[in-house]
Amino acid sequence: MATTDAVLKPDHLGKRKHFIFTDEHDQLRESIGSFVEKELAPHAQEWEETTFPDWVFHRMGELGFLGLSYPEEYGGQGGDYATNLVLAEEITKSNSGGLAMGIAVHTDMATPPVFLFGTEEQKQSYLVPAIKGEKISCLGITEPDAGSDVAGIKTRAVRDGDEYVINGSKTYITNGHRADFSVLVTKTDPDAGYDGFTLFLVDMDLPGVVREKKLEKLGMHASDTALLAFQDVRVPADAVLGQEGKGFYHIMWELQGERLIGAAGCVAGAQRCFDRTLEYAKERTAFGRPIGNFQVIRHKFAEMATKIESARQMVYTTAWRFQNGEYPVREISMAKLHASRVAVEVADECIQIHGGAGYVKEYGVEHVWRDMRLNRIGAGTDEIMLDVIGRSYGV
Ligand SMILES: Cc1cc2nc3c(=O)[nH]c(=O)nc-3n(C[C@H](O)[C@H](O)[C@H](O)COP(=O)(O)OP(=O)(O)OC[C@H]3O[C@@H](n4cnc5c(N)ncnc54)[C@H](O)[C@@H]3O)c2cc1C
Repeated sequence: MATTDAVLKPDHLGKRKHFIFTDEHDQLRESIGSFVEKELAPHAQEWEETTFPDWVFHRMGELGFLGLSYPEEYGGQGGDYATNLVLAEEITKSNSGGLAMGIAVHTDMATPPVFLFGTEEQKQSYLVPAIKGEKISCLGITEPDAGSDVAGIKTRAVRDGDEYVINGSKTYITNGHRADFSVLVTKTDPDAGYDGFTLFLVDMDLPGVVREKKLEKLGMHASDTALLAFQDVRVPADAVLGQEGKGFYHIMWELQGERLIGAAGCVAGAQRCFDRTLEYAKERTAFGRPIGNFQVIRHKFAEMATKIESARQMVYTTAWRFQNGEYPVREISMAKLHASRVAVEVADECIQIHGGAGYVKEYGVEHVWRDMRLNRIGAGTDEIMLDVIGRSYGV
């Protein structure tokens, strides 16, 4: 507090951490960050052409980074949900949105349903090797004719004695080409409405699983994105994940973690792009002064910083509630919507501030926009987020 003998000055460089993080989180941050900078970032450019290799999963499993919040009995680190945020933030130091997404699909999208809904046997067969990085996972929700409308999926699983026979098609599946198993959303009873869906754990080397093609994309080039077909794929009855008929509710739960971790990645990605651009604006001169000294550019930084900070606070507060057992679907949707928009707006402004340099690859800014642009579509589009938020008010 200001007194007559202690005059307070603004503390712009204060590094006080947010209350959801502890000293242990700081140590984890340090160790993930230095691994990412040393072992992943040097390959970012190359992996834009080739997609990132499977050894990244093996290495991250070895280091314990694929099971940060899973219990030690399954090979995890026993951390809290905030440790997942630390990973989502630090992995942006790889400068590769595609790599960050491929890892997040494994750690925060495909394996959480195995942990929450899986039997002990399923956890031993899928979760334990996934945490070690020995098995890679993917999540199959979207189909060529059903994306936003999850209830419109057509992939069918039909009981046949001790087995189920699966037929259908999934598209835009991240890790779909490399995955050892998929958490697959199917319809088991077409007449039962929302109670007619069932999740399965499907080994991707089973007869009838066809990895049709690798899809070319605007951004996220380091990730692999597959069109998959399931043609009379026979799985044992114990491949059902969770309760038969409750797959829709199970996958809606999964989507909350997916959206929140995506939002955290957006904030961290936007911040990195901001930092890099700020440095550039201090060095680049025009009309005899650094471009950052033009008021119009200074105000762009002020706008961006304010947006990033508001998104960050939404993500942290919502993550804290999620971690403490609440199910804040409205706030997760708000955080996902806001953080995705902010990330795209910030990346766009950063290109503008770089001028021509922002448009060419070597400055590493244009790909941030291309990568971030996915976040307004994947895991639920802006329009779907708005609908979830609006409906939560009873309209
Ligand atoms: C690179 C990439 C990776 C992906 N990874 C995965 C993955 O690993 N697993 C997976 O299952 N899926 C994945 N997806 C799919 C992604 O989640 C879907 O693309 C997304 O949910 C949108 O579905 P859609 O593409 O079918 O669009 P559509 O549902 O066809 O939507 C098209 C447009 O219509 C709007 N719209 C639709 N319904 C409404 C409505 N009710 N009200 C207002 N507007 C509406 C949408 O907002 C959008 O603007 C990925 C997609 C991409 C591009």
